[in-house]
Amino acid sequence: MLRRPDYPLNTQTFVPGLEFAAVRDLMLGDAARWDLPVQQDDAQVLVVQLAYGLCSFRPQPSGTLAALHASRPEKLHVIRERLLARLTELVPEQIGALRWSGAGQSEQVTADGPPPNFHFATVQNVAVPAANFLRVRANMSDLTGFSNDSIHFRLLLPPQGIATPAWPVLAENGSTRWPQGDKALHKPVYTIKHLDQSAGNFDFDVFIHEGGRVTEWAQNLKAGTRFALLGPLGGGVLESRKILLCGDETAFPAIARILGNLPENAQGQVLVLSDKVGDDAYRFETPPGVTLIRLFRGQDDLVQIALDEQAKQSDHFFWFAGEKADVARVRAVYKARQGDPVTSYIQAYWALGAA
Ligand SMILES: Cc1cc2nc3c(=O)[nH]c(=O)nc-3n(C[C@H](O)[C@H](O)[C@H](O)COP(=O)(O)OP(=O)(O)OC[C@H]3O[C@@H](n4cnc5c(N)ncnc54)[C@H](O)[C@@H]3O)c2cc1C
Repeated sequence: MLRRPDYPLNTQTFVPGLEFAAVRDLMLGDAARWDLPVQQDDAQVLVVQLAYGLCSFRPQPSGTLAALHASRPEKLHVIRERLLARLTELVPEQIGALRWSGAGQSEQVTADGPPPNFHFATVQNVAVPAANFLRVRANMSDLTGFSNDSIHFRLLLPPQGIATPAWPVLAENGSTRWPQGDKALHKPVYTIKHLDQSAGNFDFDVFIHEGGRVTEWAQNLKAGTRFALLGPLGGGVLESRKILLCGDETAFPAIARILGNLPENAQGQVLVLSDKVGDDAYRFETPPGVTLIRLFRGQDDLVQIALDEQAKQSDHFFWFAGEKADVARVRAVYKARQGDPVTSYIQAYWALGAA
């Protein structure tokens, strides 16, 4: 098995009936689509770099040996789940029976136990940082997996009124088994706006909107309330010095966190869309070379303005997050302009009318 000093954890499984050529085609297709570096590709081994680690494949007489390498148990778990989902396309009948071995299988990662990225947190307080937002500060016993590399998490809300909520558990093949039916969880994604590792707490900001289950939950929170989450997940802050950041309220916490981590000499623009509010609009701290432009719903077209600016600042990292249909418009134009996926992040954060 490959051993990498930067990825001390590894785990592997033999996948019977999986042809090396088939998994090679699948993974090279993913690597091309998502711009994942291919570290090795020959008759003996394929090694692909993923956002959270490495995966490698070696042909065997009656199948393929798949191995995963990561820096932390929760990252290993995330890439294992993704790989299982991809392999389901090729050998669906084998997936349930797969078993993993190696240093990634620590004592805590046992079947029917919690997934390594599952946590309970306790509400410390709830504040109003700006019009239409609530800020939840929560304590968590172990925040070591959370960093600037990965700034999101899934809030796990059981159905209202349920006496004994059910939580996700690990299945024997390493995937996450989710509660189903009347115990199914609501799992929206939120952003860690601020993280204080030494105090063991973090803040996330909830945009208050009509019909929002999280809105209702947050409005009724009290200090000491325990809640569950899954994380970290998703992307992190930007390495780039030249930036064009665009988004609506759901993206404000991520934009604020990215701005807070930019170098002092960063340059660029931030376009933020919201309803018109008074002096208590959501606050952003920008480095001197970065301009903040507030746009207003019903008056300004965030998509068009963002695309116009992107055309003028094509050497800037292009970051856009917001409503699904807006994101689809942005993605289509950016693609038609042959925009580089490596220097962009274009992501739907919510969908109009979605349940
Ligand atoms: C990577 C990522 C990071 C995110 N970070 C944050 C964050 O830090 N803070 C935050 O507030 N949101 C954030 N979001 C968005 C959030 O996950 C969605 O808005 C989610 O739908 C909220 O769940 P809910 O229970 O409030 O509403 P749901 O129960 O999912 O939806 C109920 C209704 O509300 C509507 N709805 C959902 N979002 C909005 C909205 N923004 N405006 C108007 N109507 C809406 C839906 O269309 C639906 O009709 C993030 C999303 C992603 C993908």
